[in-house]
Amino acid sequence: MSTVKEKNSENTPVNEINPYDSMLARFSAAANKIGLEEEIYNILKVPAQQHIVNLPVTMDNGKVQVFEGYRIIHSNILGPSKGGIRYAMEVNQDEVKALAAWMTWKCAIADIPFGGAKGGITCDPKKLSMGEKERLTRAYTIAMADVFGADKDIPAPDVATGPQEMAWIVDAFSKINREYIPAVVTGKPLHLGGSLGRVEATGLGVVIAALEAMKKMGIDPQKSTAAVQGFGNVGSITAKLFTRKGVKVVAISDYTGAYYDENGFDIQSAIDYRDANKGSLEGFSKGRKISNEELFSLDVDILAPCALENQITSENANDIKAKLIVEGANGPTASNADEILNKKGIIVIPDILANGGGVTVSYFEWVQNRAGYYWSEEEVNEKAEKSMKKAFENVWSASKEYDVSMRIAAYIVALKKVSIGLKARGHF
Ligand code: NAD
Repeated sequence: MSTVKEKNSENTPVNEINPYDSMLARFSAAANKIGLEEEIYNILKVPAQQHIVNLPVTMDNGKVQVFEGYRIIHSNILGPSKGGIRYAMEVNQDEVKALAAWMTWKCAIADIPFGGAKGGITCDPKKLSMGEKERLTRAYTIAMADVFGADKDIPAPDVATGPQEMAWIVDAFSKINREYIPAVVTGKPLHLGGSLGRVEATGLGVVIAALEAMKKMGIDPQKSTAAVQGFGNVGSITAKLFTRKGVKVVAISDYTGAYYDENGFDIQSAIDYRDANKGSLEGFSKGRKISNEELFSLDVDILAPCALENQITSENANDIKAKLIVEGANGPTASNADEILNKKGIIVIPDILANGGGVTVSYFEWVQNRAGYYWSEEEVNEKAEKSMKKAFENVWSASKEYDVSMRIAAYIVALKKVSIGLKARGHF
């Protein structure tokens, strides 16, 4: 057994806020803790494959614009690689590398037979018309035709993509292959082989994980408060399901700003407002408008970052008053904040555990597609809840066994599983 030190990614300058470096810092800490062999470390610290494509697309004004698209497969050791596709201006190689690695660890923690991958296109989805988005999605699918596959690499929705983009991918991929292949993506519309429960799955998992932690911490949901950052798929459903469990959601936010009401929000009416307002909370008149910084420093029991990476850093970690952070987003906490949060005694349910409900139900969708037999929503939710609770318990016990934070414990659980698979399969 050898000791491995934290290393920075090769392609970028040393920058603690680089999500790939944040991933490596935790991966290294967990590897050291369990004495992971250096050979295994060296294989798992880098992605297995990186595909970068340029996508020329004719825009509505007749001009051609070239977009950069990524698909990075971190590993396919435990099964075909799985991970979402993100449309955002910030999409870059290191971000996608980090997100792909997190998918490997997430699938291992959730105990589903998938490896990890992630994709993205650098674009401003708000500026694209439906037609432009469709042409871009189809161009991306054709460029990745040899990468994707129901037994190879299976995309899903992520930031700014949803069932419609997945439907275009199924259609383009099926046309190229001359057969209908719905299992090539998950998060599809229901009538194209989507699963009941998939839309709510990530938020549901976030809330189940938070409730499990609250049980351990002796916090009564009925007497607790939460602040939620992000009001998209994950944030709005997390907020809605929190209120159903009696948690008072006193702050919500999206890219247009944050809103605070000490009496708690009626989340369904906020969702209705967003849906009637082109997907944003702009102009939302309930509550008082606050800044993003204020949202993070509110005196609440639970803080649920469900939007972006690097929202909690060494700059603002000291201001956080919440007792529990549940990471609905991927990578919302930079590694330079970990020690500060640990010292403050804040329990953090890390992304690779907390938001694993999404990929778990994606796995159920893939199973249903392949069986050609579809489950009821109750069946999906029941299986998802059982799986989430088991994953939480495994990570909680590892944190006690190794005397580490929940985050490092989550990496330990994942690393142990992936390294067993890797050793069994071997290499050249
Ligand atoms: P989404 O596009 O549906 O929503 C993103 C939300 O974040 C929007 O409300 C947007 O307005 C908000 N936002 C953007 N910039 C912001 C800012 N500066 N401040 C506050 N809010 C801001 O995306 P999503 O699917 O909800 O994903 C959110 C996060 O959850 C991402 O990190 C994603 O990788 C992760 N995640 C998503 C899923 C899933 O099933 N969709 C699963 C696991 C993890």
